[in-house]
Amino acid sequence: MAGVIRRLDEAVVNRIAAGEVIQRPANAIKEMIENCLDAKSTSIQVVVKEGGLKLIQVQDNGCGIRKEDLDIVCERFTTSKLQKFEDLASISTYGFRGEALASISHVAHVTVTTKTADAKCAYRATYSDGKIKAPPKPCAGNQGTQITVEDLFYNVNTRRKALKNPNEEYAKILEVVSRYAIHNSGISFSVKKQGDTVSDVRTLSNTSTVDNIRSIFGNAVSRELIEVGCEDASLAFKMKGYITNANYSVKKCIFLLFINHRLVESAALRKAIETVYAAYLPKSTHPFLYLSLEIAPQNVDVNVHPTKHEVHFLHEDSILERVQQHVESKLLGSNSSRMYFTQTLLPGADCSSSEVVKASANSSAASKGTSDKVYAHQMVRTDSREQKLDAFLQPVNNPLSTGPTEAMTEVNAGPPEGVVRPQDAEMEDVSDLVEIADVQEDTVMPGGLSESGRVSPETVPPRKRPREDVDIEMEKDDTRKDMTAACTPRRRIINLTSVLTLQEEISNQAHANLQEMLHDHSFVGCVSPQWALAQYQTKLYLLNTTKLSQELFYQILIYDFANFGVLRLSEGNLIGLPLLIDNYVPLLEGLPMFILRLATEVNWDEEKECFESLSKELAMFYSIRKQYIIDEANLTNSQNEDSDSGSTTWKWTVEHVLYKAFRTHLLPPKHFTEDGNILQLANLPDLYKVFERC
Ligand code: ADP
Ligand code: MG
Repeated sequence: MAGVIRRLDEAVVNRIAAGEVIQRPANAIKEMIENCLDAKSTSIQVVVKEGGLKLIQVQDNGCGIRKEDLDIVCERFTTSKLQKFEDLASISTYGFRGEALASISHVAHVTVTTKTADAKCAYRATYSDGKIKAPPKPCAGNQGTQITVEDLFYNVNTRRKALKNPNEEYAKILEVVSRYAIHNSGISFSVKKQGDTVSDVRTLSNTSTVDNIRSIFGNAVSRELIEVGCEDASLAFKMKGYITNANYSVKKCIFLLFINHRLVESAALRKAIETVYAAYLPKSTHPFLYLSLEIAPQNVDVNVHPTKHEVHFLHEDSILERVQQHVESKLLGSNSSRMYFTQTLLPGADCSSSEVVKASANSSAASKGTSDKVYAHQMVRTDSREQKLDAFLQPVNNPLSTGPTEAMTEVNAGPPEGVVRPQDAEMEDVSDLVEIADVQEDTVMPGGLSESGRVSPETVPPRKRPREDVDIEMEKDDTRKDMTAACTPRRRIINLTSVLTLQEEISNQAHANLQEMLHDHSFVGCVSPQWALAQYQTKLYLLNTTKLSQELFYQILIYDFANFGVLRLSEGNLIGLPLLIDNYVPLLEGLPMFILRLATEVNWDEEKECFESLSKELAMFYSIRKQYIIDEANLTNSQNEDSDSGSTTWKWTVEHVLYKAFRTHLLPPKHFTEDGNILQLANLPDLYKVFERC
């Protein structure tokens, strides 16, 4: 049996229509805020109860509504903003269909209290189903309008049941108001729950857009913002806003989009921009975007949906492409400035371990439940023998070498053959070595550490072929002549004020974080005789080995004064040189210049200056330099040895002697963080963002 077709009751029709426009409290509030903005308000305050379901109250200080208009303000299709159909094309105000207030009055109890500038007093009126219930009553009130909406959907059971979570509704309300607040800097906004004294969102009329983003989304977003702006006359559009750089990413994209100052959604635009970011952000993470587009009104179709939420516009594809290009160029630009920032501030001095701990704590909090998870970009190499630079360098001149692996094993196993080490030269037996090492072990090193850098006897490979040109012999310190290896070595105590002052100066200059970095670094490889790479936590550093070794020798000289072993020189009038660290002989070609400088550069008249300048000259002579390598390589070549071992020699010395000593014996001075002698090149988490997608 066919059903009977009946005309719907008008009230029901209106209610259904209203439900299309106003679907939840946040929609009503959005419409009301737009009316406040159309009325040129500079202050908009929202108070709600039960997520807006019980009460919404919006107060502004705008132009107000004339008393004679109050009668029809809640009727459908009444608006002060549009008269003729043609006006639709050039409309610049938010509302224009006169539908919002009418719709609200069909599904809630509405009260309007308003005063215009020239009215003597304010007037109040209440509405139901689009009709004013009684003539407006005069009352007290400031200029502006206050609209109260009570018991939303009191007459629409289904809708009321669908919206039973006031907290969810309140969150939506905060979202809408805070977005309008960001878009309308210069106008103060506030939202609070009725009865609360503190607002949940609050912006002031004198704060900037970025200030508002900071107060609403926090510093983590606001400090990574890039300002964007472009326009194209032929496409009749302008865009401006703020977007986050590649340093920032979140699980869910935050996209504040305003088209012609109306909060809207555009799935197409969102997708277009996210495509650009995909190349910069880690997988499944997203940016924060605030964009304001102005498009010739005649090109925008807001009538896609009754809530005017999703929009389409003419030339959409071309406009999206322009926006994409602009965003891309801004992200690229911010990348290079980020590098620069890293370079200057960086000496990673601030790389205390707490930073990394914090980072991993954050990420584990984000991935609830998997708190032990360490992401690849946070992983730190723990075995310093793995993946050194040498592993990537194929020795070119050595046909016998089977490849990098072998070369590396050799390097790691101990000093390569042919290395001139003090122990190699005229050493009588192992007990001598032990004795010398004991002197070293007992010495109090900077930082109070007394670890020796010596190679233990069993790791010293059998002596191959000592070099004949320079004959060096290790000798026991004279004061210890009568001691045996088993004796506890005595240390000469130095009480000279001059030396103690110099020691103090060194320790006052020390940089704790750099020291921690040097202490715990993993050696990556030598770039050149002067420069080496080291890793600390997730960071890669370039270190000036020459300057660091010079500082190391200076500090050893000052801290260990009068307690050195002797490198005995067998020829000429010079008897010996101080043995500053095991396995290290300064480049003797530098000896004549050193002797000359002892005469010209050392202040022999003042005690403290004398110790200081003498130690400086010695340190310079001992430091590892380019010349060291060239000479040694030449020497090896002239002896017709395998040509690779020359470079292996200095590399071995840099890694296993110098950098080993830096770990425990060097108090890095603060100036290394500023003068480029220690530079942070990269930070893995940052690189990860770039390379993960490759
Ligand atoms: P529209 O905004 O499309 O005109 P509305 O239903 O939102 O339709 O509002 C109807 C009319 O009520 C508006 O045109 C305006 O004249 C008046 N009005 C509503 N809210 C305010 C307000 N806060 N201040 C001043 N006038 C208002
Ligand atoms: Mg409106």
